Amino acid sequence: MIVNTCGFLDSARAESLEAIGEALNENGRVIVTGCLGTERQLVEDAHPAVLAITGPQQYEAVVGAVHRHLPPVARPFEDLVPTPTRLTPRHYAYLKISEGCSNRCSFCIIPHLRGALTSRPAAGVVAEAERLVADGVKELLVISQDTSAYGRDIKYAASTLRGREIRAHFQDLTSELAKLGVWVRLHYVYPYPHVDQVIELMADGGILPYLDIPFQHASPTILKAMRRPDNEVKTLDRIRAWRRACPDLAIRSSFIVGFPGETEGDFEMLLDWIEAAGIDRVGCFKYEPVAGAASNALPGQVPEPLKQERHDRLMAHAQALSAERLAAKRGRQIEVLVDQVDGDGTAVARSQWDAPEIDGQVFVPGAIGAAPGDLMTVTVTGSDDYDLMAVPGGAA
Ligand code: SF4
Repeated sequence: MIVNTCGFLDSARAESLEAIGEALNENGRVIVTGCLGTERQLVEDAHPAVLAITGPQQYEAVVGAVHRHLPPVARPFEDLVPTPTRLTPRHYAYLKISEGCSNRCSFCIIPHLRGALTSRPAAGVVAEAERLVADGVKELLVISQDTSAYGRDIKYAASTLRGREIRAHFQDLTSELAKLGVWVRLHYVYPYPHVDQVIELMADGGILPYLDIPFQHASPTILKAMRRPDNEVKTLDRIRAWRRACPDLAIRSSFIVGFPGETEGDFEMLLDWIEAAGIDRVGCFKYEPVAGAASNALPGQVPEPLKQERHDRLMAHAQALSAERLAAKRGRQIEVLVDQVDGDGTAVARSQWDAPEIDGQVFVPGAIGAAPGDLMTVTVTGSDDYDLMAVPGGAA
């Protein structure tokens, strides 16, 4: 078993160590990789029985460890055929366009763990996307640490794909991906001005009207302490302009509550801002000091019970907003992508507003003949806090 770990928050590190323990109990032959792998001693002390420990992006080291502990069986006729491995279902795939980050948010050690922004040449990204689509992928999820900064480190250099030059720029890349005829979903976007052009692509149906923007907070004082862009009014204006250009746009965001110095006023400003911005999907984290993060030295650490209280208040607020926004979709005819079909014939699907694993689902009973990866037209008949209910076809 290969356990891919996170080494960021203390809670994530604890969870990673727990997962390694679980894997050892289940199977006994475990290779550790990912960010926690940079802390070899910690892993070895907790789990001396692991077979190998590798760090982030050390793909060759992982494969080397696998081959050392599980030598491949020789298959002379098949060994020359490359067999790409994906951990996602056949019908969707993550497309990583860059690694690392050149921002310096005070609570984050990702630039330290993963290095500065390193963008892949656009030709390689588009070629990979084409291969995935040819392999049956119906939805591409574009990921990175800072998607809208794509190409900045390589001065947006063009690369050549079948004689055609493609610039390593967020806008050019999304235009290329829009031509592939599959769902394209953007994660980890910053609200920079050049995102405006991508909204036009969304309005034209080229890519999904969905943006995952980790805003983290809305109070200028806290944003400044986080060392993030702090003009929440301008951001609100930008979101409103996006919604005018693309009324179906769904925005997912994550927020940190209990950041050092956060007052009740800052927190209430955040609640109001989430409502004013109409954030459709919300994730919330309680601030945790991370070894090596600049924010550890900030005054005004918020007590744990207060962090929990703010977390619960924010999630209740977001839940009510989500329920309201989903109720407005009742009666609409929408396209959904089927993830699975239950034994009773109910398709568990997702709309354009739902990323896998993190957002809601669309339940479609009586989806006769549906299979994972199918795109279906359905009519929304009901909704709850996070999910939609629908019937197949264009009439309720
Ligand atoms: S929070 Fe995101 S944008 Fe900020 S430094 Fe970390 S990875 Fe970069």
